[in-house]
Amino acid sequence: MTRTLTILGATGSIGASTLDLIRQSRDQWRVKALTANCQSAELARLAIEFGAELAVVGDESCLPELREALSGTGIAAAGGAQALCDAAATGADVTVAAIVGCAGLAPVMAAVEQGGTLALANKEALVSAGDILMDAVQRHGATLLPTDSEHNAIFQCLQGNAIEDVRWITLTASGGPFREWSHEQLSKATREQALKHPNWDMGAKITVDSATMFNKGLELIEAWHLFPVGLDRLRIVVHPQSVIHSMVEYRDGSTLAQLGPSDMRVPIASCLAWPQRMDTACKPLDLATIGTLSFFAPDEERFPATKLAREAAEAGGAAPAVLNAANEVAVAAFLAGQITFTQISAIVARTLDCALPPAPTSLAEVLAVDGEARQRARMMLEPA
Ligand code: NDP
Repeated sequence: MTRTLTILGATGSIGASTLDLIRQSRDQWRVKALTANCQSAELARLAIEFGAELAVVGDESCLPELREALSGTGIAAAGGAQALCDAAATGADVTVAAIVGCAGLAPVMAAVEQGGTLALANKEALVSAGDILMDAVQRHGATLLPTDSEHNAIFQCLQGNAIEDVRWITLTASGGPFREWSHEQLSKATREQALKHPNWDMGAKITVDSATMFNKGLELIEAWHLFPVGLDRLRIVVHPQSVIHSMVEYRDGSTLAQLGPSDMRVPIASCLAWPQRMDTACKPLDLATIGTLSFFAPDEERFPATKLAREAAEAGGAAPAVLNAANEVAVAAFLAGQITFTQISAIVARTLDCALPPAPTSLAEVLAVDGEARQRARMMLEPA
């Protein structure tokens, strides 16, 4: 049976992993829409390879290049924020949400509102608008499949069990490239060092988030929305090998874990085939070669991100959206060489210290909170 697919953020790391899986099972999928921000040439190449009906760039100034690259192919081209939402609402059986940042929120909401299945990698959307998004999932009868490897692991470990029986959900964290660095060393960490993740090959923003541990902080908030066990039952353990992707402990003392290679094609395949399974070309897990699995408590002195995220979740209301927006601004500034590595968490903390706006109750209000928090965070940027 052929199913239809739309990928939001097709030119990124998750987009590439998804399309790699589709390439191996072409006869089972028909691609409706592929989107990017401005990589028009790459988007056009993918749209042609996969016979997409529609290609969309978020940045409208990149539309002429996309149109040119697609001329004569019969593939429709569009650009701009509304076009991204229209692409998300093409009625695909499965929509993969893989835009990076809160920029993906409105398209994610558009995909949810049409029902169908949403494979959600875009964690920032859920962090910024968790309650509103989860409420929309319920109201529109959409199926939300967590694609982030940790949440996909938890989702798998929960199958066939009652959420009331959960004692703990444990998110594993690799600890990133700076796991053993002193505060002094962290303050001098360069962009190049932060972009070298020991286990995963990912986009730049999430790679920096892994180095600061904001990735785990965002994931804590993501898990809090996805799995209703309460914040006090969510914990984090550092596991440098990234073999166990997360665990669920039940009240009888059983702990279920999901293991796999550090390859996003595994959780993406789990979402694409759910509730069944599909073949992947991923390397099998060779535990004898790996040898040792180790675990450490997170150090929130050197990496305050998880503490900030937990506090933002506890504060609720606008706080998670503010935390996310400030982090996006700070990471972009770090990548642009404007601030040091340790200033990222300092800027997020200071932005959260400002008076918080009222709790947002709609998508428009979340976007307003996001915009305001970005402005505040930008004002705090100091030269490195
Ligand atoms: P990438 O940076 O590799 O790709 C991001 C994608 O989003 C690209 O297609 C990019 O287009 C598009 N994009 C960027 N900005 C905008 C915008 N303003 N409007 C519209 N589209 C935009 O990111 P990743 O694939 O690494 O991550 C995507 C999401 O998945 C993130 O939320 C991340 O946290 C999450 N995730 C990623 C994992 C990974 O292994 N990479 C693992 C788990 C979660 P263009 O190419 O034109 O810039």
